[in-house]
Amino acid sequence: MDIINILPDSVANQIAAGEVVDRPAGAVKELLENAMDAGAKQIDLVVKDAGRTLLQVTDNGCGMSESDARLCFERHATSKIHRADDLFAIHTMGFRGEALASIAAIAQVELRTRLTGSDLGTQVCIEGSHIVSQQPVACPEGTTMAVKNLFYNVPARRNFLKRDSVELGHIEEVFRRITLIHYDIGFSFVSNGRTLYDLRPGSMLGRIAGLFGAAYKERMYAVDEDTDLVRIHGFVSRPEFGRKTRGEQYIFVNGRFIKHPSLSAAVERAYGDLLPDRTYPSYFIGLTVDPSRIDVNIHPTKTEVKFADDHALFAVLRSAVKRAIGQFSLATELGFDTPDEFNIGPAPQGYIPRQPHVSYNENYNPFHPTPTQTRLTLESLKPYDDRDSRAGRDLDDLDDQPTAAPQARPQQERDELKAPCILLQGRYIVTAISSGLALIDRHRAMERILYDRLSSRRQTADSQTLLFPVDCRFSAADAELLGEMLPELKQYGFEITPRDNTTFVATAIPSDLSTDDLQTLLDQMLVDSKGAAMQRFNDRSQSLCASLARQMASRHAAPTSQEEMQQTVADLFACPMADTTPSGKRIITIVKPEELLR
Ligand code: ADP
Ligand code: MG
Repeated sequence: MDIINILPDSVANQIAAGEVVDRPAGAVKELLENAMDAGAKQIDLVVKDAGRTLLQVTDNGCGMSESDARLCFERHATSKIHRADDLFAIHTMGFRGEALASIAAIAQVELRTRLTGSDLGTQVCIEGSHIVSQQPVACPEGTTMAVKNLFYNVPARRNFLKRDSVELGHIEEVFRRITLIHYDIGFSFVSNGRTLYDLRPGSMLGRIAGLFGAAYKERMYAVDEDTDLVRIHGFVSRPEFGRKTRGEQYIFVNGRFIKHPSLSAAVERAYGDLLPDRTYPSYFIGLTVDPSRIDVNIHPTKTEVKFADDHALFAVLRSAVKRAIGQFSLATELGFDTPDEFNIGPAPQGYIPRQPHVSYNENYNPFHPTPTQTRLTLESLKPYDDRDSRAGRDLDDLDDQPTAAPQARPQQERDELKAPCILLQGRYIVTAISSGLALIDRHRAMERILYDRLSSRRQTADSQTLLFPVDCRFSAADAELLGEMLPELKQYGFEITPRDNTTFVATAIPSDLSTDDLQTLLDQMLVDSKGAAMQRFNDRSQSLCASLARQMASRHAAPTSQEEMQQTVADLFACPMADTTPSGKRIITIVKPEELLR
């Protein structure tokens, strides 16, 4: 008796779908890739309920003809390869022609598409592989693919989906993996009516900042290399911004995100021992290689890839990153705040540039903040008229000496810090101290003072109950993080409760803060707590505290009286690490008496 059946297409497609689309994020990846393959310059993603009820991608690419709009849902329907040879020169993201067939097997799909230059578009509705309707429709040039009720006919899959916040997190990661490297294309991402990202086309660094926060612009070194084998363009984090988790590590080959342990190792090796223990660099690196030198038979959802020239690639990448780190690290020695970019105008006529002289302390280790960053000792901060004044003592002399363990200054001594103060440009407090003339950045001073107060819990921030509670909204991933931080935030005077997956309601905030920028403040706090900058702190509670202190300080009103300024100076000098902010920025600059003499 014959027992072999040929499975109907709809069943075969459903089985195949299990491989291509295991969760909403898988469908998002396919739809975004198709839009890019269609040459779109703007791509808009809309999801509802983390993709469960709706996943929609709109592009302004080439569009499809009436019959292609039907054909695209057939298995092995692709416009991207025609012959087996084509497999060795793939320049598109997709080529197997199974994504749309798979998605159509497990969802209700509505396609609207208009071929560039054509008058009218086509709408195709398909449900579980069966075309329900096709009709002409007026629509913009390009394509909108709306996938509704994913897995409606595969309850087993549907039941395996995780919480919305988890599924949305997966979609966000897919979105990052695609948008990071296609920074020449504009992308937007709307979830449940809220815009999570609106990314303009531009540079890779701009895209990194758009996805991870503007602060990233200052944390990165550029990596650029062009060899016969490979072209490398990307950014790696400065060693001091290493992260405690291997999170933001992205390598792309020919526009495609890949995981490649030995290339990742190449990047990490380049850092040598510059990275503090148990921290990892962030990196975003695009490699461009001849497509015939990589194995194309990659499974659509897999991120592994094989190179013909593994070892050479490893070596080139490592040395490129090494050079990026080495080449630029001197810059950090040049000033206490390295500017974003050096602004170099045209040189005046006849100007002969001099080689800049850079001196550095060989023993300086940026990761041992206590002994070296505390340049000032308590001694040097005594009031100017102190009998024991050691005026003229060079601060740099103190560099090599271990700093005495921080001690609380006696109250009486603090009261003596009453030298007159001047406020310069609303920002710098100028006053006399034992070792000279002190210029104090008042924002940074407040940051230190508030940090010490908050972290020692000597002072719980005063709380004000809000007459009108304020709503704040976050991406699903951020919302989850914020949820975890709520108990700590409460200690600092915030009364915040979740309303739904992405919305929180604030009913009380620290009294130093205004509600106007509460959203900004919380957003920044989230960036800080994920961001590499805060990895210098031992735990999230410290980093949270530093973030809060920094933001409260930046909103602190300028002092209006002598007493207020003197109080700030006295409060600052009462801090054990009075000369640097929690994130390591210098607070005080001292002009020494001999410099004054000159
Ligand atoms: P593949 O991308 O591997 O070719 P898909 O199933 O993803 O397979 O898509 C099938 C075909 O449908 C593509 O080859 C392309 O011709 C067409 N197509 C899909 N999405 C779009 C789109 N957004 N714009 C234009 N054409 C598209
Ligand atoms: Mg495709």
